[in-house]
Amino acid sequence: MSTSLLELQAADTMSDQLRHRREVLAEREQVQAAKNALLRWNEARTVVRRRIEELAAQIEQIEADAAKLDKHRDKLNAQLKTVIAPREAEALQHEIATLTGQRSELDDAELAALEEHSRLEGELEELLGQEESLTNEYLGAESALADAESDIDGELTRIADRLAGLRAEVEKSVLRRYDRLRKNYVIAAAPLSGSRCEGCHLDLSAAEIDEVRDTGAKNDGIADCPQCGRLLVV
Ligand SMILES: [Zn+2]
Repeated sequence: MSTSLLELQAADTMSDQLRHRREVLAEREQVQAAKNALLRWNEARTVVRRRIEELAAQIEQIEADAAKLDKHRDKLNAQLKTVIAPREAEALQHEIATLTGQRSELDDAELAALEEHSRLEGELEELLGQEESLTNEYLGAESALADAESDIDGELTRIADRLAGLRAEVEKSVLRRYDRLRKNYVIAAAPLSGSRCEGCHLDLSAAEIDEVRDTGAKNDGIADCPQCGRLLVV
């Protein structure tokens, strides 16, 4: 029975390690990294698209303003031809010059907006070209994680079967103590190795060794460590 207890401990330890390994799988980090890359990509695409729409609206507005300005200037030019008084002609010429200045500012603004628009169209095209590879990377990482998890789950299932068999072999009262100790300790049952408890790694005195051996002789080789209280297999 004392052998089954140590085997039970070994199986539980293995199971703990596998669960820990499952939690810290490198594949899990890769899924997260691929997901973050996709999120960043999506955000960049949204920002670029929004700016392209803004610029298109801006260009449309500039063109409408320019047309209105041209119409006004044409009207003034026509008026200028019919004016005789020099002061009136001067005033009209001054107004036309102002409109020409404004028209030139509009042209500059439109040119800048068109340049940015064209640059961003290129950027958007580049971004759209990345979608497939980013998506595939994410799906690949997810599938690698699922494979790694499924490998560990298979091992965990095998250990669970083994644990059920081993638990049936250990006496009920010992099992209850083992389970209680396992709530506080990863190692609940340890062998006495020389004078050392392999649970707490402390040496027992000669008198303590005599005592645990005595107890073990009466209890299927199972005693308590006087230092840490773990089940000690002697
Ligand atoms: Zn101990």
